[in-house]
Amino acid sequence: GNAEPLPGEPADEDAAAGAEAPLPVLAIVGRPNVGKSTLVNRILGRREAVVQDVPGVTRDRVYYEANWAGRRFTIVDTGGWEVDVEGMDARVAEQAEIAVELADAVILVVDATVGMTNTDEAFVRVLRRTKKPVILAANKVDNARQEAEAYALWSLGLGEPHPVSAMHGRGSGDLLDAALDALPETPREGFGSGGLGGPRRVALVGKPNVGKSSLLNKLAGQERVVVDSVAGTTRDPVDELIELGGKTWRFVDTAGIRRRVHHTYGADFYASLRTAAAIEKAEVAVVLIDVSDRIAEQDARILTKVIETGRALVLAFNKWDLLDEERRFYLEREIEQDLGQVAWAPRVNISASSGRHVEKLVPALETALEGWATRVPTAKLNSFLGSVVAEHPHPVRSGKQPRILFATQAGSRPPRFVLFASGFLDAGYRRFIERRLREEFGFAGSPVEISVRVRE
Ligand code: GDP
Ligand code: GDP
Repeated sequence: GNAEPLPGEPADEDAAAGAEAPLPVLAIVGRPNVGKSTLVNRILGRREAVVQDVPGVTRDRVYYEANWAGRRFTIVDTGGWEVDVEGMDARVAEQAEIAVELADAVILVVDATVGMTNTDEAFVRVLRRTKKPVILAANKVDNARQEAEAYALWSLGLGEPHPVSAMHGRGSGDLLDAALDALPETPREGFGSGGLGGPRRVALVGKPNVGKSSLLNKLAGQERVVVDSVAGTTRDPVDELIELGGKTWRFVDTAGIRRRVHHTYGADFYASLRTAAAIEKAEVAVVLIDVSDRIAEQDARILTKVIETGRALVLAFNKWDLLDEERRFYLEREIEQDLGQVAWAPRVNISASSGRHVEKLVPALETALEGWATRVPTAKLNSFLGSVVAEHPHPVRSGKQPRILFATQAGSRPPRFVLFASGFLDAGYRRFIERRLREEFGFAGSPVEISVRVRE
């Protein structure tokens, strides 16, 4: 049948590698200036994680997808964060704890030219308490002569130090081999692997003060709260099971919501780390937006993260009680202007503090999860695209007209399509195809990925 991939085309490549199989997470930790960012760059083989020379500058992206020797995994980069020297120990502990909470394995980076410091030892103490594998990287070993310095780090008690020069690449292959040996093939249970049987995993995210904890309290308060009995694991000490609409839902990473983070150096960085982690763990993200405040860059960034992670999305416009006529007028324009990229997401207008309309969240979540899991049979997809393309062919480019030859849905959650085309498709035409697919098949509340393979 036509569900077969075209000869020589690995049409199911996306499905095999896809979002349904979450990647294991490797965290890179260590005190400032030991070379964490340099090492992340080295592993990624690109300059994306720019080494920062400005103290206090925080990066938004802390998660990177990496590939080594054919294995894909996620790197959590904690290098973008500068500590103030006074609060060092507390900050180190926090950095290590969060990274460890998120990670399946950890690389602790130590500067071999400096040797072991009290701060390194503080890291070791935190890391020891966990059962996660820790690989010790002795960095800045730029030549063989310096290797002896690396071996002095045996005394940290983390086993063999791996001498490496993040800057020049020396030893980085061996370090990664060791890290990947320690990294499980798939993330530990409870992280993306909950399957359809368990409670659906929901992340409540949004910028500070948008009302996340108010909403969580409201949801937990009006229904029976079940404190998660499997929460003994390091990974999920923080999920809450809440019954809503006759079903149990798993709200992930709620400790991050309940614990009011003091505004200290690096707080933004941790907020974005937590947000990223919660989205990563969830199947569906509820992004809260404060209607009393202008829709901001930060809101857009969180939405982009949800889309990039391929999770279902519900928009919750909170503090609706604060909306007056004038603000309402501007809000509608801001939504049009700034939230156009997520026009497909179900919207609820709520007041988390009073609880008004929060019950509307459940149907919205269900809609989004349904759209997220939609599968379109290949025959139906191709006959629909056939008629779309017949009506609206691709514009002629340099005398040629690219045609869509065949399409298949390579995966779901979120829906991923592969179009085989006779030539490169314009971005505008791809958007047109996505729009038409949405009109026809729905996918409400879900990002849709479309990739194009050009066949000569
Ligand atoms: P981070 O704060 O831990 O992320 O450290 P960075 O990656 O920003 O590196 C701190 C400094 O150490 C920078 O000046 C790097 O160029 C330098 N550095 C990083 N790795 C190496 C290395 O392998 N050898 C040498 N000699 N310098 C390095
Ligand atoms: P979080 O930082 O996202 O967890 O936000 P909080 O839940 O702590 O809320 C921040 C502030 O907004 C608190 O003072 C809340 O009382 C207030 N707030 C939350 N939801 C609403 C709402 O629906 N209406 C109004 N008027 N205030 C709200």
